[in-house]
Amino acid sequence: MSDGVTPTGALEIASCVMFLVGLKLMGKQATAKLGNVVSAAAMLLAVVVALLATGVDFAVISVTVLIGALIGGFAAVRVKMTAMPELVALFNGSGGLASLAVGLIELLPDREVALTSRITASAAVIIGGIAFSGSIIAFGKLSGKINTKPIVFPFQLTISAISVIAALVIAGFSVASDSAFWLLPVLTVLAIWVGVLSVIRIGGGDMPVVVSLLNSYSGVAAAFAGLALHSPVLIVAGTLVGASGLMLTNAMCKAMNRSISNVLFAGFGSAVDSGTGAQQTGEVKPINPQDTYALLEAARSVIIVPGYGMAVAQAQHAVKELAAHLIENGTNVNFVIHPVAGRMPGHMNVLLAEAGIEYEQLAEPDDVNPTMETIDVALVIGANDVVNPDARDEQSSPLYGMPIIEVDRASTVVVLKRSMSTGFAGVQNSLFFRNNTRMLFGDAQKSIAEVAGEFAAD
Ligand code: NDP
Repeated sequence: MSDGVTPTGALEIASCVMFLVGLKLMGKQATAKLGNVVSAAAMLLAVVVALLATGVDFAVISVTVLIGALIGGFAAVRVKMTAMPELVALFNGSGGLASLAVGLIELLPDREVALTSRITASAAVIIGGIAFSGSIIAFGKLSGKINTKPIVFPFQLTISAISVIAALVIAGFSVASDSAFWLLPVLTVLAIWVGVLSVIRIGGGDMPVVVSLLNSYSGVAAAFAGLALHSPVLIVAGTLVGASGLMLTNAMCKAMNRSISNVLFAGFGSAVDSGTGAQQTGEVKPINPQDTYALLEAARSVIIVPGYGMAVAQAQHAVKELAAHLIENGTNVNFVIHPVAGRMPGHMNVLLAEAGIEYEQLAEPDDVNPTMETIDVALVIGANDVVNPDARDEQSSPLYGMPIIEVDRASTVVVLKRSMSTGFAGVQNSLFFRNNTRMLFGDAQKSIAEVAGEFAAD
């Protein structure tokens, strides 16, 4: 055996470097697409190198890669933007299942595998199994195929804890014994059971956070599978997924002012049901597109705050057109994006980027909140919870403590939505009843198009 780096090893290292470069490029909007392409190429290289290393026929490799690419490509093209978390959940589940399968193969009795590899393989089985079944439940909840309310029953956490301990004990026996084949199905079932138990107790609304956490699990499972297989590229890729999933989970929890344990164990769905919030008083003051135009035409500084309703209405292109009219009119325009606006991380950024809105026009709540008094008009397009002043002022609100975009402090607020119904958190919004708020009722795309039409006709 040569002491130098083998061609396969060199290609694996190249793939690892490409993953790192791809991730770095994804950190900036301008280079994000390139980052995606570089990472996809890294994945292709990793798959081909891994298969070649096993001595599989090249035709078999090509067909396998093609089938996987077709399934992935078809799913990505077909999926609606609002259903992206469901797709991610399914892909996470597949990653978990793959690591589970690799771990099981390494633990088979007739395999002559080192003890350390058997230990990491058993970790891949447990974590991969949890990621797999948890992701399937998350997919079911996100798509409404299973009950979205938290399913909680007596001694649930105790049963979960006992199941985890049992899985660890069985894993210990599987590692130690190389002839007890029957232990493997028991270990698999236990891991799957723990995943189900953990996720059914979480409300459907928290699923995007859970999907991000499960994404992290599937990465960790892959890294363990990589350790079992002595595959550097799998270790690097799995670790990157594990770490980034955890960072994203943390960022989402911070933006909602919730701890990860609150998401995992409290069941926000039930918290919302029991939350009361403030009794809303005051008059709702509707406005029509013509008067909205008059307000905007006279404004010197406008912020646009998009939310989930903009995604539902697919209003991003109309919004871009309106912003162009405003800029042409000499108005200073900024888009302020809340980190949890919409239903998945980066939801609004993706939609605005799709409409071709410049990255420089995007602002974060912390950039704008301190100078909110200088804003003439805050245009709230399908956002609700992320601009609810009760999150700042009302201790009885289930949203209390969540950082918001404080549009209520702008001179005038125009809120675009179809009705007085609540947002995701299920609580009424005192913003709608404030003296400086006007409600432009209707589908956001239609309303914005009408306002933009007034500018065009001017
Ligand atoms: P909300 O869900 O609070 O509100 C969306 C609003 O859009 C609704 O009030 C709805 O009112 C309106 N709307 C729906 N369809 C249309 C339409 N066609 N035209 C105009 N308006 C429409 O959205 P936000 O973005 O403000 O908040 C996101 C919420 O989701 C937060 O509570 C956040 O914590 C939660 N969340 C976000 C995650 C993320 O990763 N981004 C993950 C998990 C949860 P009406 O029906 O009257 O039109």
